[in-house]
Amino acid sequence: MILVVGGAGYIGSHAVKELCDAGYETLVLDNLSTGHRAAVDERAVFIKGDLGSESDLHRLFSRYSVEAVMHFAANSLVGESVADPLKYYENNVSATLTLLKTMCAYGVSSFIFSSTAAAYGIPDTDYITEETMVRPINPYGRSKVMVEQILEDFSHAYGLQYIVLRYFNAAGADQSGNIGEDHRNETHLIPLILQHLLGKRPYISIFGTDYPTPDGTCIRDYIHVTDLAKAHILALEEVLRNKGEQTCEVYNLGNGCGYSVQEVIRMCEKVTERKANIEYAERRPGDPARLVASADKIKHKLGWKTEYDLEKIIHTAWKWHLHHPDGYISFEAMR
Ligand code: UDP
Repeated sequence: MILVVGGAGYIGSHAVKELCDAGYETLVLDNLSTGHRAAVDERAVFIKGDLGSESDLHRLFSRYSVEAVMHFAANSLVGESVADPLKYYENNVSATLTLLKTMCAYGVSSFIFSSTAAAYGIPDTDYITEETMVRPINPYGRSKVMVEQILEDFSHAYGLQYIVLRYFNAAGADQSGNIGEDHRNETHLIPLILQHLLGKRPYISIFGTDYPTPDGTCIRDYIHVTDLAKAHILALEEVLRNKGEQTCEVYNLGNGCGYSVQEVIRMCEKVTERKANIEYAERRPGDPARLVASADKIKHKLGWKTEYDLEKIIHTAWKWHLHHPDGYISFEAMR
């Protein structure tokens, strides 16, 4: 079976759906601290538990025959990580170490790890490749880079086979409209704009208009969550194919196109045919002006293709938000 840790979360639940569609027997471990039970595909086995709990992990690994692990469970808010670094080092680093230790104990050596563009900090290049210097500027980014370093050491010492995927800005929803983005405390740009356009927020704030970009607002690389999920399947196939040989690879996952906050708002207005109220606000601490990926490496090496541009990403997100204005709560009510 393929164990998906954090499979009830936003990106994890989309990966679970892709795994089930591809015919993999899938097992989800999630403590539902930020994820939703309703997001987990019905074809997967669900276990509520903690990746940092040795007893939860032993129970799981002794009961199921796990072939590979995908690890999505992490806290991922930059601002929160600055205010509460202990939470990030505990949940993102220490708990992952417990998972890796248990995998070693049960002889499971194939691992796909969710990392982040925050690993690069403030890059000195327009298109970030995997060769770009890793120098995170906040505890969230550092927690991910620490795990990347642990993986490298585990690979040399214990034969761990792994692929690290560094995501740029995940967005959109499965095209069925049945699963999507539902954070209890939403901070991400696209869901916030769409919630505003749905009438659930009075305005959308633009954080900073004096960045060194053409329109003064931050530029990001938005990548569809299903494109991300499909990259995980390719990575999984690669580690399983290479069993016995050393695999320790890092890939960026992005579209290679940068859009400013203003451009994203305009695209949301176009897709929804609604007009946004904009509030111009101060810069948000820790935001780099521009983060755009070069994802050529995974395209060349694993044949990854992206299907969704920004307009299509927003179409799928809008479909999710329109049908589930209160997220999974409304979804549950409809079932
Ligand atoms: N942003 C904004 N207003 C908001 C939320 C986000 O202007 O209400 C900006 C944010 O400063 C960043 C970009 O939108 O430049 C993307 O932010 P998000 O939180 O979605 O992702 P991040 O890049 O932080 O991972």
